[in-house]
Amino acid sequence: MSMISNHLPTAELQALDAAHHMHPFTCNSELSQKGARVITRAKGVTLTDSDGHEILDAMAGLWCVNVGYGRDELADVAARQMRELPYYNTFFQTTHVPAIALAQKIAELAPGDLNNVFFAGSGSEANDTNIRMVRHYWAMKNKPSKSIIISRHNAYHGSSVGSGSLGGMSGMHAQGGMPIPDIHHINQPDWWADGGELSPKEFGLQRAQELEKAILDLGEDRVAAFIAEPVQGAGGVIVAPDSYWPEIQRICDKYEILLIADEVICGFGRTGQWFGSETLGIRPDIMTIAKGLSSGYAPIGGSIVSDEVASIISKGEFNHGYTYSGHPVAAAVALENLRILEDENIITHVKDVVAPYLAEKWQALVGHPLVGEAKIVGLMGSIALTPNKETRAPFEAEVGTVGYICRERCFANNLVMRHVGDRMIIAPPLVISTDEIDTLIARARTSLDECHEILKEKGLI
Ligand code: PMP
Repeated sequence: MSMISNHLPTAELQALDAAHHMHPFTCNSELSQKGARVITRAKGVTLTDSDGHEILDAMAGLWCVNVGYGRDELADVAARQMRELPYYNTFFQTTHVPAIALAQKIAELAPGDLNNVFFAGSGSEANDTNIRMVRHYWAMKNKPSKSIIISRHNAYHGSSVGSGSLGGMSGMHAQGGMPIPDIHHINQPDWWADGGELSPKEFGLQRAQELEKAILDLGEDRVAAFIAEPVQGAGGVIVAPDSYWPEIQRICDKYEILLIADEVICGFGRTGQWFGSETLGIRPDIMTIAKGLSSGYAPIGGSIVSDEVASIISKGEFNHGYTYSGHPVAAAVALENLRILEDENIITHVKDVVAPYLAEKWQALVGHPLVGEAKIVGLMGSIALTPNKETRAPFEAEVGTVGYICRERCFANNLVMRHVGDRMIIAPPLVISTDEIDTLIARARTSLDECHEILKEKGLI
């Protein structure tokens, strides 16, 4: 058995980590100089690191720990399921109770005729399923030329070759031969960065109409689907102007384009309803889910599919699936997580209590000299840092320099807040209390003040 444990000194853990562990989305050589932060345990919204710091996790891990850390019920269900049936597959005409029960529960919670679930192990895998499913759907309908999926620049849909291609992250596309063919990207509805002199309403319409233009340019007979996050998460919590989504819905309806809502972040309560599509008035044909489905306690994702799409796919064999599709332990944990969300009225707590409370304090950050705009939907928010609120100018320093400085101040003040370029973003666990929101805001303000001082010292402002 390995002798590596929480009791080793931090420096020793860091050295071992640097020697053998390649971190995702990280410059590993830089990290090995600095040493990774070692998280040892967590409870509620609070992480503890190997030096004993107690850190408020305003990112719910990676936007996933919706019910908060340290829920014994989830550990108990996992242990019970592992003893009873740790694994069996759902291929070859077999099934098991956790997969049946979870699919039924998801169908009950999902809006409209989204009554069918194809399970995956993660959001990336689920979006890979979606690529194949929408193309296969049109092929089954004798329209095999409809294979192009339209997405958006700066979208995030995962990191596999397929889902990374769907996403619009230029840094990802620059490595490893992405995007795959027949993925087309239009511009994102980021009014702060790109809106220029247009009003948010005009800009939202203009960006939505890029979808119509793309469909007409590419040919209606070539386009299979449009995919988007109801609120762009990893792109910087970009909230589209109100005019955007109704226009997107109109265009998808008009041209018979399948609409895929990537609910990996927005799903399971983050926006104050079960799904972001409900909050934003979207009627998707397919939803991608992961993260909050199990609150991150077990890896599981999936696609929730409309009766119409499922009926076509189900006519023949869909040659697709993962060893861990509907994994019994992950499914049992997810089901228990949904029970907790429901029985403890956590989504009502978001909608009626903490989202309005946080929104007021978050929006007040615009009074800070560095903050240009503050956006928030439910419990996902962002602030844009700027040297000039009037012109919405970026900093002269390379994009992300200021965001990084701010994030480092947050860490130093025991707050996990992430930066995307020079936007700071939050997505705390849904169980956060109003007192904890006060702490979050106080630490964010201190960090912004310290960042402001550093920028002055460095002559960056
Ligand atoms: N879609 C969205 C909207 C996401 O935010 C993410 C993860 N951040 C994914 C898909 C990919 O999920 P995973 O990391 O579980 O593969």
